[in-house]
Parts: sequence; structure tokens; C-alpha cells
Amino acid sequence: MSTTYDVLVAGAGCGGICASLQAARQGAKVLLVEREAEIGGTGVHSPVALVCKFQRRDTYEPINLGLHRELFPEAYAWRGEFDDDDRLPSYDHRDLARRYLELLAAEPRIDIRTGQAVTAVATEADGPRQRIVSADLERDGPVPARVFVDGTANGDLSALAGARFKVGRDADGAMMPATLTFGVSGFDPSKLRNPRVTTWGGYRSLNDELRQTLEKARAAGEAPPGLYGTGAFAYPDGSILLFNANHVRGVDPRDPEGVAAARAEARALVEHSFAVIRRHPAFADARLEFVSDRLGVREGRRITGDYVLTGEDCLGEARFDDAVAAGAYDIDVHDPDGGPTRLQRIPNTQVYHIPYRSLRAAGLTNLLLGSRCISGDFVAHSSYRGMSTITAIGQAAGGAAALAATLAGGDTRAVDPAWIRHELHRAGQWTEGPRHPPP
Ligand SMILES: Cc1cc2nc3c(=O)[nH]c(=O)nc-3n(C[C@H](O)[C@H](O)[C@H](O)COP(=O)(O)OP(=O)(O)OC[C@H]3O[C@@H](n4cnc5c(N)ncnc54)[C@H](O)[C@@H]3O)c2cc1C
Repeated sequence: MSTTYDVLVAGAGCGGICASLQAARQGAKVLLVEREAEIGGTGVHSPVALVCKFQRRDTYEPINLGLHRELFPEAYAWRGEFDDDDRLPSYDHRDLARRYLELLAAEPRIDIRTGQAVTAVATEADGPRQRIVSADLERDGPVPARVFVDGTANGDLSALAGARFKVGRDADGAMMPATLTFGVSGFDPSKLRNPRVTTWGGYRSLNDELRQTLEKARAAGEAPPGLYGTGAFAYPDGSILLFNANHVRGVDPRDPEGVAAARAEARALVEHSFAVIRRHPAFADARLEFVSDRLGVREGRRITGDYVLTGEDCLGEARFDDAVAAGAYDIDVHDPDGGPTRLQRIPNTQVYHIPYRSLRAAGLTNLLLGSRCISGDFVAHSSYRGMSTITAIGQAAGGAAALAATLAGGDTRAVDPAWIRHELHRAGQWTEGPRHPPP
């Protein structure tokens, strides 16, 4: 007999996994579907090493105490001062992969199907809106569920359901460049000005030294333009440096052939980068430990929801009555035209709310957005795309999906944000605003 799922989550990156875990912990029966053979998404298959900021700036209080803490426990020792002796909050992608598997294995209400994408959806009229009836999996065909969560990052599920979306900058739709990250081991820290590569001081000093090495190579005409910098982040044990060092422009995740061609271009840039890095004496005997399986794509569809979160909201530390998550990471725009990366801190408390309305796809009654495809503009997206905020968004979407499926006939708009906050609070998550259990 086939299972009737309360919640179907498409995409098993940090957003989709957190959505699945929260929904299941609230008692929902969940199906998690992943296109690739292995779960983990960008954080595992295009490792990024740095755990982006999730603390208030005034009190250093973490604004994410949810599943993010179970995934990145080491980062909670950090108070966010950025002093030279403070540890860099980083993670090892192999630990993250293991934690995802352990947390999912501990949850009997989650079924996982990997190696098959959601390729189509069936919808029907539901009052003035549409309702998703089932999602078609590449091999298994249509699977019905009460509520659907889009964890695909690129908003594939939502677009298949006919949701409206935007991509890139308003002016021309241009998206941020993509990057192929890579890990380097076997370097000699004693030949660095500051050998403590796992501290902020070590990070700054290392990147300054490598920048000079790169500039020399550039001056000699030996560094192609795609080597935009060095960006080396140490894994927690200091044995691997993760390089975020190349940019490939014009990548659109809606075009898989274009993504494959961009990966090939980026792969060549990795070799150039590594050759430049090895000119520094500390890296003379270094090894290219790994090159990420997948190209790191920063941007894709932003699905239009009941509210569009803006860059002004983030920089104005917006507070919303229907807040279900929060962000504290900088505006971080990698220039689509190849100019310098724009990093701008959220001022004062450094915290902005993410409203429940930005997680509800406009025009659909039973679809929630649980990954970086939530409803926001180009500038807001450059901030909330950091993994801390995406895990909080995914967890909130999963909690809301479970409530909608079990108490509201699948209608996500019948779920009171105070119920969602109640469930998140019970799970240990940081919340702001009134909360109460469903009647
Ligand atoms: C190069 C780079 C550097 C970054 N640096 C940092 C950093 O230092 N710190 C930080 O916090 N963040 C960083 N980020 C941002 C962050 O890593 C991502 O925004 C975040 O991991 C996205 O999570 P997600 O769950 O939305 O999507 P993903 O992790 O991308 O997961 C989406 C999943 O959906 C699957 N999928 C897609 N389509 C379908 C479909 N049709 N059916 C089924 N499954 C599907 C995909 O295979 C994937 O597994 C970086 C991003 C990039 C690209």
C-alpha cells in the first residue's frame, strides 16, 4: 500500500533537509526527494567552509538556535567579534554530510528518494488559487501530498507549478557569478606570517599574503581574469584550506548545458589558481586535495510570494508581525559584471526578520518556499542566501507545512504565524513575536 505523505520536500540541501526534519519532528509524514545521487546540496557538494554570521551585533546573541546548531555546533563557540585570536567559524563538509545522514536516519517519518528530480507537477483550482495535487518524480511518477516545500534552491518545483518568479538584477536579469571551490592540503603553516590559519588573524594574514602572490602573477600576465581573488578558509582542524577563488559569469541554473560548460571553464581556472598558490613558499609542496563535485551556483529563480523581502528591509532591520525566521549576514553581492564584491553590514542589531508571507508562493495554496528561492529582491537574496538563514527558512517552512497538512487541510494561509513560532520555540529555535499553540 502506498504511503500518503503530509509533506513532500523537493531538494535536499540545507533548506530542504531542515524543512523535512522540522516537519517530521512535528509528526508529519515526509517524503524528501533529491535529484542527485547524494543528499547535501551546495554546502556538501560545493563546500563553502565559512559559517556566515548568525549573531546580533549588539549582544552577540545567536538568532539561530534551531537545526543550524545541530549541523554546525563548533560555530556556536564564536561570539562574532572578529578579533585576531577568535576562531574562524568554519565547517568540514564531510562532517556536515555525516550530520545530515545521522539526523535524517534518526527520523522514521522521513522517506528519502535520491537520484530523481521532480520533473512536473499536477495542479487543480482551489478557490482563486491553484493547489498542487502531485509531483512527478523522474522514475517513480506522480506522488501526491497535502503540502509541498520547494527546497530546490532554483525554485524548480514552484516554476513547474506555474508560480511567478524573477531572476537576477532588476535592470537586466544578470545573476551573480558561479564559483568552483577546491580544497588544498599539505601546506606548511610555519612558512606563513601567521601560522594560526584557524583564527581570524591567521585568515586575514594568509589572504593578504596570497593576494600579493596573485597580484605578482597578474602583473606578469600569468593569471586569467576569472581568478577574482584568493579567499582561503581553513577547515576547523586546520588541515585543509577551502578556496573560493574563481568567478564564472553568465551562469543560469535553468540551463543545465550552460552549467556543465561553466564547470569545465571553472575547472581550468582551479588549475591556474593552484599554480599561482604554489608560488608561495608555504604551498610549494601543497596538494590539490579535492575539487568540488558541483559548480557553486549562487543564484536562480526568486519565486514571487505574498510579500517580497527587499534589500531596504534587510538594511533597515525590518520587524514583521509574521516573522518566522531571521537573518544577520551582510549584503554580499558578487558583481555580475565582474567588479569587486560588495559586502555591506546590516547596521545596529544586524538582525532582520523574514516574514511568513515571503515563504508562501503567490497563487498557490499548498506550496511553501524552503530554500534560497524565497520571495525577495536581488539585494535581499544576496544576504539571506547564507546557510544560517537558509536553514532557519527551511526549518520554518517545514514547521508551517506540517501545521498546514495536519490542521488546515493543506491551506498554508490558514496557518497563524504565532503557531509556527510556537512550534519553532518548542524545538529550541530563536523567535521574536507572540506565539501560541494551535487551538
Ligand atoms: C560559491 C559559493 C560560496 C558560498 N559561500 C558561502 C559561505 O561562505 N557561507 C554560507 O553560509 N553560505 C555560502 N554560500 C551560500 C549557500 O551555500 C547557499 O545559498 C545555500 O547552501 C543554499 O541552500 P539551499 O538549501 O537553498 O540549496 P542547495 O544546497 O543548493 O540545495 C538544493 C538541492 O535541490 C536539489 N534539486 C534541484 N532541483 C531539483 C529537482 N527538480 N528535484 C529534486 N531535487 C532538486 C539540488 O540537487 C540540491 O541538492 C555560498 C554559495 C556559493 C555557490
